[in-house]
Amino acid sequence: MSQRHLPEGLHRDTLAVREGLPASPWGENSEALLLTSSFCHPNAATAAARFAGEEEGYVYSRFSNPTVTMMERRLAALEGAEACIATSSGMAAILLLCMGVLKAGDHVVCSRSVFGSTIKLLQSEMGKFGVESTFVSQTDVAEWRAALRPTTRLLMAESPTNPLTEVCDIRALADLAHGAGALLAVDNCFATPALQRPLSMGADVVIHSGTKYLDGQGRVIAGALCASQALIDKTLTPVLRSAGMSLSPFNAWVVLKGLETLDIRMKAQCANALAVAQWLLEQPAVRRVHYPGLGNHPQHALAMVQQSGLGGAVVSFDVGAGLDPDADRARAFAVIDRTRYLSITANLGDTKTTVTHPSSTSHGRLTEPQRQAAGIGQGLIRLAVGLEHIDDLKAELAQMLTP
Ligand SMILES: *Cc1c(COP(=O)(O)O)cnc(C)c1O
Repeated sequence: MSQRHLPEGLHRDTLAVREGLPASPWGENSEALLLTSSFCHPNAATAAARFAGEEEGYVYSRFSNPTVTMMERRLAALEGAEACIATSSGMAAILLLCMGVLKAGDHVVCSRSVFGSTIKLLQSEMGKFGVESTFVSQTDVAEWRAALRPTTRLLMAESPTNPLTEVCDIRALADLAHGAGALLAVDNCFATPALQRPLSMGADVVIHSGTKYLDGQGRVIAGALCASQALIDKTLTPVLRSAGMSLSPFNAWVVLKGLETLDIRMKAQCANALAVAQWLLEQPAVRRVHYPGLGNHPQHALAMVQQSGLGGAVVSFDVGAGLDPDADRARAFAVIDRTRYLSITANLGDTKTTVTHPSSTSHGRLTEPQRQAAGIGQGLIRLAVGLEHIDDLKAELAQMLTP
């Protein structure tokens, strides 16, 4: 729907609470949750014209619903994108992208450090349909260049990554993709548009799991892709219409309202995370801290440029000695189990701080050598820092680290 109801040139903060669609004739101030599977037409001819796409109008919520449109428009505004298409989950967004832009015989180059299910989807599922994928270093652009083939159609990256918060050079990867006639898609789940807008750095597609910071309160599963109007309208919407990985209006509404506070939540959670990371650095029980906001992070300077000077809200740290994996695991489990109220869960992006042991949860499907290669040891603990008071977080971590 192309209806405009706002003046041009508003700031992102304003768009975060105002972008959407005009209110209904009832004049609601909070956006309407339109839980309806289909829409009625004034007559049969209008129905025919709307089904044929000759006339604008909502038809069926598998591919068009005003509450979903409002969420799409708001997220597009925050990403600086022409358009957005919402999906039932973050993985559904990646599936939609693959089904839309790839065909049998095509090749994908993807970072080895992306979300585990993304790797499985490319390798196992897309592989079945004749799409080949090569997995390369998150940070070494030369490895990406060397992996390119004449059939490469898509480069896929994520920054920062889970759980080690490695940062890739989005501009360099975009240049590489475009030189090869391919698209660059960036999973912006960890940074969110509050910190990082990949399209402004040359990426063609932004991938989101709305489940994380966009909802921000751990309530719903949701996803989205942001891209040019042409890519969404010509390449992605037809696939969504046929394949049906659509977002429910209820979940769209929850994310829509979450976007209103994304900026202030992210800034507050980043500030907490930086304070936690700096404090962890000083703890004798902690061998290593991974956080892009720290000066010792290998891509600290790049992260600060790409992420509006903020490190994000995910901090990982190692409590193992690095000699015996079993001993390291026991030590990490003991630290986690001493928490009195942090949430032991692999989700992230919540206002509640979550703590997880990546090598036995999110990365449990990898073999030990694969994990070693990825740098995800048995002593590693990931914190997705929430909005609790920083003094309470430090006190809680202090008692968790004290046997
Ligand atoms: C969670 C996550 C996904 C998948 O999103 P779902 O909504 O769980 O399907 C994709 N990428 C990243 C980086 C994630 O953290």
